Amino acid sequence: MSAASLPVDPNNLEALWMPFTANRQFKRKPRLLSRAEGMYYYTPDNRQVLDGTAGLWCVNAGHGRKSIVEAIQKQAATMDFAPGFQMGHPLSFEFAARLQAMLPGDLNQVFFTNSGSESVDTALKIALAYHRARGEAQRVRFIGRERGYHGVGFGGISVGGIAPNRKQFGLQLPYVDHLPHTHDPARNAYSKGQPEHGAELADRLEAILALHDPSTVAAVIVEPVAGSTGVLIPPKGYLEKLRAICNKHGILLIFDEVITGFGRLGTAFAAERFAVMPDLMTVAKGITNAAVPMGAVFATKAIYDAFMNGPENTIEFFHGYTYSGHPLACAAGIATLDVYRDEGLFARAAELAPYWEATMHALKGTRHVVDIRNLGLVAGIELEPRSGAPGTRAYDVLVDCFEAGLLIRTTGDIVALSPPLIVEKPQIDRMAEMLSAALRRVA
Ligand code: PLP
Repeated sequence: MSAASLPVDPNNLEALWMPFTANRQFKRKPRLLSRAEGMYYYTPDNRQVLDGTAGLWCVNAGHGRKSIVEAIQKQAATMDFAPGFQMGHPLSFEFAARLQAMLPGDLNQVFFTNSGSESVDTALKIALAYHRARGEAQRVRFIGRERGYHGVGFGGISVGGIAPNRKQFGLQLPYVDHLPHTHDPARNAYSKGQPEHGAELADRLEAILALHDPSTVAAVIVEPVAGSTGVLIPPKGYLEKLRAICNKHGILLIFDEVITGFGRLGTAFAAERFAVMPDLMTVAKGITNAAVPMGAVFATKAIYDAFMNGPENTIEFFHGYTYSGHPLACAAGIATLDVYRDEGLFARAAELAPYWEATMHALKGTRHVVDIRNLGLVAGIELEPRSGAPGTRAYDVLVDCFEAGLLIRTTGDIVALSPPLIVEKPQIDRMAEMLSAALRRVA
């Protein structure tokens, strides 16, 4: 018997090197999900787990949506793959046009990627090449923000502001600086919606620009709401200031909407929710309801047009992925947009937001809780860390919730909740009850 034909033990967890996971801890006591439908996951032993996190902030229309499944099945049987370089296929153009029709502000062009990380690195490259195309090749600097998460490519970790994601690797992009983060519990704890205090933190951008010479800066990149580092909502007036400063200095503003895109805040994009328009926007996750991996960068027509010169047979942007605009992803994406539209899911999120806010804030006073913040259908519940063991309390809460039948996400000692936009009020109640019970159980 050759090694390849040896029977494989399905319970052997050793071969897989898991992403962003404490591998040894997990494999000692695994948490497996094997089926999903609507608002629920199911474990291999058929235990129901309420999805408080839309998977990983991505399954906005809920799990196993029939029309999305069928669209993927049909496309797989019709054409599995088509090259996207110097060739095209109808669905990629159709999906781009569908997205274009819903883009806010001057955003107008759609470049497909396969993930949020790829979207971020693509947007950074577009920014550099755009300035070059306009004769401003000296604009090579990026300004990110502390506690920003922009995926795991070298561009993304460089502009990102999460120390462990950077320091394990040493090497990063040069010419990057960071704004301070906006998390200020001393002034803003238990804010409902946008915090009152902190708009002045955007003024730090002027100081950073002065240090580097603004004419050397290509772009500022921020998440409108920082998700992965614990639901940091922008203070009132903060994003407006960033926009004004970027305008003043000819610097592009990039919104990373990988989490906020596709309805999370009750509008299609956070840019609309805050009425602040970026020059470039990165998305992924909800673009296909996570049924097939995909991401995209949206750019203004002015940016696109800056590339469209020179001889017509020149490739204008030397960038792209084998799977940019993959047929299965486009089929899933079009079907996903249909579900969002037909079920009015973004408006639904907006309608549910006050109930969500009230239910989440009712957790105030529960053991360990030191702050609660929310916007749209997202909430961050910050716990007091155990002394000398940061992150362990929230992790124990995650394990406890999972065993009780609720999926939450934690980062450090912050619990993040972001359910699918199909969530019902009794399920919101249930999430709060289960979380509250876990907080009371966990030391
Ligand atoms: N940008 C933001 C704001 C994100 O939240 C994420 C993932 O959570 C990413 C980028 C990276 O996306 P991906 O994991 O698809 O590469």
